[in-house]
Amino acid sequence: MIVVASWLEQSMTRGILTSRYPKEAASDDEVPPTGRPPLPVGGPAPGPRARDSCPVGAISDTEVDQGKCIRCARCVAAGLTFTGPVEAATRSRSDLMRLSDGPAPSPGSPPPLASLGRSLHVFLVDVGSCNACNLEVLALANPYYDAQRLGIFFTNSPRHADVLLVVGVPTPEMVEPLRRAYEALPGPKAVVAVGACPISGGAFAGVRDLAPSLEGIVPVDVFLPGCPPPPVAILDALLKLNGRDRAARGGR
Ligand code: SF4
Ligand code: SF4
Repeated sequence: MIVVASWLEQSMTRGILTSRYPKEAASDDEVPPTGRPPLPVGGPAPGPRARDSCPVGAISDTEVDQGKCIRCARCVAAGLTFTGPVEAATRSRSDLMRLSDGPAPSPGSPPPLASLGRSLHVFLVDVGSCNACNLEVLALANPYYDAQRLGIFFTNSPRHADVLLVVGVPTPEMVEPLRRAYEALPGPKAVVAVGACPISGGAFAGVRDLAPSLEGIVPVDVFLPGCPPPPVAILDALLKLNGRDRAARGGR
């Protein structure tokens, strides 16, 4: 009884500590310095100096491929800043080239998967991560991000899931288990690629025996760039599946 009274007192004095996202925009505390995509300062073209600074070939003379970017910040000295939208997930791979600090590039993207309901059951598969993306995903289950308040639940079996959340670059040992996990989802189902690794190989692109990307192994519905993407960006990627993301709520 004394303990309950103490909890009540703490709740009354501290108020609600759970994140307000996506009802409110992500706060500065929720987005680390490299949590946003890098964009050229003062114009769309990055330029040759920025191109030469990038260790993963994400920068060309005309655009930045956010799906390759590992957020190393080497291009900052060459005129890029991390000012892109934190809601950087796209429904197509090519849209990751066109990210800007304006509205998300959604008009040409596929609509939400209407067949998925208001709640999403998520099965996480690590096909070869460095564990950082894993930790950001698992943060969604803590009391601060509290993904359950948004109808997002993690399951321990793909047979109970609507969504396959994939982190890491596909290693040979994980290709077949990943395919089997995808087949086990009952449907309707969706796949979210979290971070540069499953989108392009990220820092491991070109390493012998590693798959170049998740595409070609399972169909991908949402591409979320970052290395790693912060929890609010992962929430946005999931909510894009059923049209409950911040943009769909008229939040920006
Ligand atoms: S932050 Fe991204 S775009 Fe810039 S140099 Fe690093 S990998 Fe390349
Ligand atoms: S995308 Fe970056 S943070 Fe995520 S698993 Fe790959 S290397 Fe690690």
